Amino acid sequence: MLSNEVHEGLVLKSIDYKDQQKIITLFTPTRGMISLIVKGISRKKAHLLTLTSPLTQAEYHFAIGRTDLYTFQDGTPINTHLNLRSNLDHLQTATRFAEALLTTQFPGKPAPALYQLLLTYLKVLPNFTDPTALKGSFLLKLLKHDGHLALNQHCSHCDSPSTHYAMGECFCKSHSPSYAISLAPELFILTEARAIAELQALKMNPELMDRIEKMFKERN
Ligand SMILES: [Zn+2]
Repeated sequence: MLSNEVHEGLVLKSIDYKDQQKIITLFTPTRGMISLIVKGISRKKAHLLTLTSPLTQAEYHFAIGRTDLYTFQDGTPINTHLNLRSNLDHLQTATRFAEALLTTQFPGKPAPALYQLLLTYLKVLPNFTDPTALKGSFLLKLLKHDGHLALNQHCSHCDSPSTHYAMGECFCKSHSPSYAISLAPELFILTEARAIAELQALKMNPELMDRIEKMFKERN
């Protein structure tokens, strides 16, 4: 028994499959990750090429069968984000957003707030000459969204101000385990920022970005 559904989504990954077919992974606000098989792709069908390109945001019509791989039927592009392809830093940052979502989100796990964050950050990305702060902020907000990050002004073991962070917890200097990273004030701003201007005003050094990537990798 087949049923048809329509969902808005953004292409995170697109791989060629057999002749004139692609399998795309969509991030949707309503159903989390969705995999679609798109058939009959050719140079003449420009709209199918658009709908299967990474970073395309569109409305997708598809048929649900017995497996997790659904069959694409039709679609209407909303935003191709082609403007991100004219600058390598912007494209790499958008790609990092996609990779981070691919490693953390699941089918059937709706994430409307995260989807909105992705759209907002893709929209403002071209305004950043150096998009490091935006990248760091996205990873930290993603960790927080998934319950892997709770930044606290105080140590989880005593009332002292927190200075270190490890495995989702904050510590003062005396309670911090040896593998903890030191908590820079920028980490709070990047995680909690409500206005893009806060991120644009932030000076990011590469070492801080390395620390954020480490926090992301070691999420528990
Ligand atoms: Zn303490």
